[in-house]
Amino acid sequence: MWGIIATWCMARDGVEKATKMLKNKEKAENAVEIAIKDVEDFPYYKSVGYGGLPNEEMEVELDAAYMDGSTFNFGAVCAIKDFANPISVAKKLSKLSENNMLVSSGAEAYAHKEGFERKNMLTDRAKIHYKNRIKDIAEYELKPYSGHDTVGMVCLDVYGNMVSGTSTSGLFMKKRGRIGDSPIIGSGLYVDNEVGGASATGLGEDIMKGIISYEIVRMMETGADPQTACDRTVYNFERKMMKKRGKIGDISVVAMNNKGEWGVSTNIDNFSFVVANELSDIKIYRAKRINGKTICELASKEWIEEYMSKRMEPLEEK
Ligand code: ASP
Repeated sequence: MWGIIATWCMARDGVEKATKMLKNKEKAENAVEIAIKDVEDFPYYKSVGYGGLPNEEMEVELDAAYMDGSTFNFGAVCAIKDFANPISVAKKLSKLSENNMLVSSGAEAYAHKEGFERKNMLTDRAKIHYKNRIKDIAEYELKPYSGHDTVGMVCLDVYGNMVSGTSTSGLFMKKRGRIGDSPIIGSGLYVDNEVGGASATGLGEDIMKGIISYEIVRMMETGADPQTACDRTVYNFERKMMKKRGKIGDISVVAMNNKGEWGVSTNIDNFSFVVANELSDIKIYRAKRINGKTICELASKEWIEEYMSKRMEPLEEK
């Protein structure tokens, strides 16, 4: 059995590429890298890679992580600037026995030495978003932080290897050096090929409080199916957060076990995700919570078209 699940509709082209590879018996480690690179390279996705929205200094600082469920090898880069594909740097770091997680200038020096492609990741479009946001913050007294859509994936290949990866520009208008859950093993992603894997997207500061991805895998290990593990983890954590703090940020998760069965959970109204396995070709779903359970419906063609056209619509400075 092979399978792959990814957060957000934006992952669809990447998942399609990965699916072809997995069908051809290629390894999960390459399929995940290719799929995430596809999202990083697309300039209109404003929360991952090229075109990602900047921090408050108008710099695009990117976080990415890669984990291999056969060995527990992991690699991560945090707040890396000016490199085209943070996921590939993270994957390369996962092969080392130490120095697996590098931040900012250290990550950049490593990527440079290893010959990774340099690229100015700040697009003109992202600059316009930034300038407009500054105006909106002043005018409407908005909270500066908004916009998040990390790409997170879990993948199983025909050999039984499982890999998970994430890539994000993090919160729009974050402080320089702010790091969310996405590059943190256990929070943004976790995978054990004897069980399965999970990945999260949403408010990193809250996802980290619950070590959400590890918790999902742990629950699957005790026998829960992926859907039950996802819903229990997210909604139990939400109850705790409400009790302790009276609030919780957005949290959405995807998971797959080592049989290719999958689950998702969300505390928002419109979480989209992409999934495929040997039994079912690639599909895009939208998930929301109804009566304490996450319910998924297939995304319509119109919804997908609107998702894309919204991201690509002309943008002018206010
Ligand atoms: N979790 C990411 C972060 O906090 C953002 C996201 O998922 O969209 O950096």
